[in-house]
Amino acid sequence: MNAPTPMIRLTTQRQIILEELAKVKTHPTASEVYDMVRKRLPRIGLGTVYRNLELMAENGIIQKLEVGGTQKRFDATTDAHYHIRCSSCGRVDDMEMEVMDSLMDAAADHSSYQILGHHVEFSGLCGECQEKDNMNIE
Ligand SMILES: [Zn+2]
Ligand SMILES: [Zn+2]
Repeated sequence: MNAPTPMIRLTTQRQIILEELAKVKTHPTASEVYDMVRKRLPRIGLGTVYRNLELMAENGIIQKLEVGGTQKRFDATTDAHYHIRCSSCGRVDDMEMEVMDSLMDAAADHSSYQILGHHVEFSGLCGECQEKDNMNIE
């Protein structure tokens, strides 16, 4: 198996950031990644974590989420997949559904652009927030 060689060298710091990010499915923000990484690298700074996340995202090693909300979120899963964001608490989950290539074809039909990709973010209320809603009604 020949894994594609990343454009940037994975330093120990970067490797640890990547490992910590890959452990979770919560699409953490840079400061959440920082909190996880700090347990293994107590002297690392938030700025370093942030720069490394940005660099790895630019090189396709990780994904930077194109989602609404004020803070950028990161994802170690680089395969194309859709996300759903809770409108109430802001959590972001993966959607277990197929990426729709037909959407790309439809976009190509309506644009002179060469279509390279698309991002879909669904919004809704997560299970926990639905329960909270129900409790408020009672
Ligand atoms: Zn929620
Ligand atoms: Zn994801």
